[in-house]
Amino acid sequence: MSETRAFVAFGANLGNRLRTFRDAVRRLDRTDGVAVCAMSRLYETAPVGGPGGQEPYYNAAVELRTELTPEALLDALQEIEAAHQRTRTVAWGPRTLDLDLLFYGGLIMETPRLTIPHPMMRQRRFVLRPLADIAPGAVDPVTGQTVANLLAALPLHDIEDVVAISKDWR
Ligand code: AMP
Repeated sequence: MSETRAFVAFGANLGNRLRTFRDAVRRLDRTDGVAVCAMSRLYETAPVGGPGGQEPYYNAAVELRTELTPEALLDALQEIEAAHQRTRTVAWGPRTLDLDLLFYGGLIMETPRLTIPHPMMRQRRFVLRPLADIAPGAVDPVTGQTVANLLAALPLHDIEDVVAISKDWR
């Protein structure tokens, strides 16, 4: 079976964010048909949207090689989120772990459950900045733009809200 290169965004703003990220990478890598190949730096970022008074997020991105279909990969991501008892009660509220599927090869798809590429990724510095660590030349199949170009096109107002943490989490 052929392998597809996929990218996943990580976010967390509750609990021990670093421990959660490390555990999620381990669980992903142990998933049948999934291998983690690259990890971005770790970023601390200001919360965007949702209720006020939220703690800062950690964000990161990882590259996978996978034999899973997009739906099966989303199942795996959601199982890992559930293992971290993510609460879904408040839209855009605090979360222990959020895993978003960004790119799945050059696939473009839209179903009620899954939109690929992830529809919000082009506006989010906290997604594009980590992704550019590991895949600056990856091409968004919808716009034809590279990740580096999408990042460079963002308005600069939030540039100080996305800060690389020097700690090596890999
Ligand atoms: P959120 O937790 O706010 O990221 O949204 C989760 C919901 O988004 C889930 O019900 C997924 O079915 C849906 N979804 C649609 N596209 C994606 C994607 N590319 N990655 C992750 N979740 C997605």
